[in-house]
Amino acid sequence: MRILIDADGVLENLSQEWVLYLDEKYGRNVEYEDLKEWDMTAAFPGLTREQVYGAELEEALYDRMKPMPGAPECVKRLLDAGHEVYVVTNTPYAVIQYKMEKVIFRYFPFLSWKNIVITSNKQMIDGDILIDDGIHNLIGGTYRKLLFDAPYNRDFDEKAHGIVRVKNWQEIEVEIAAAEQSCRERISDGLQAM
Ligand SMILES: [Mg+2]
Repeated sequence: MRILIDADGVLENLSQEWVLYLDEKYGRNVEYEDLKEWDMTAAFPGLTREQVYGAELEEALYDRMKPMPGAPECVKRLLDAGHEVYVVTNTPYAVIQYKMEKVIFRYFPFLSWKNIVITSNKQMIDGDILIDDGIHNLIGGTYRKLLFDAPYNRDFDEKAHGIVRVKNWQEIEVEIAAAEQSCRERISDGLQAM
């Protein structure tokens, strides 16, 4: 299968570190679980949009980011099993190098630039499955959809949109195995019908 994986909030913990970074920089006490909306400014009243989103452009933020638990091991297993893996990310162009060198290629050394797709329109990308924490990336698109659980997407009724919610990489691996099984059955049914 061709597996599409979002970077921020799926492969790595950008949002968690971003909150802590803003807390330290501006003397706040906001927690990751307080991010109830996709727009981070909602959790930081009193800070300007430039202050909140300016932090995303600072190199120091990328030095502290970490992979999501189990993500490197699982992505490696998917590659070893013969799947195509693409990291599909809407990373601002100013920080692409920081994110790749300090986070993605550091913690996922078996990935290279050939595995990276930068786009603000993930629905254009052709894949069998997309794992993403952003609802706007999962609505539409021809791929199967896994929503990576986060406080800012928890109110969303994923089932009404044919989307499966996953809470961690163990659940992702189970869902990918199920999707692979159903792909195999479809191929086998098609052969029998010929
Ligand atoms: Mg994301």
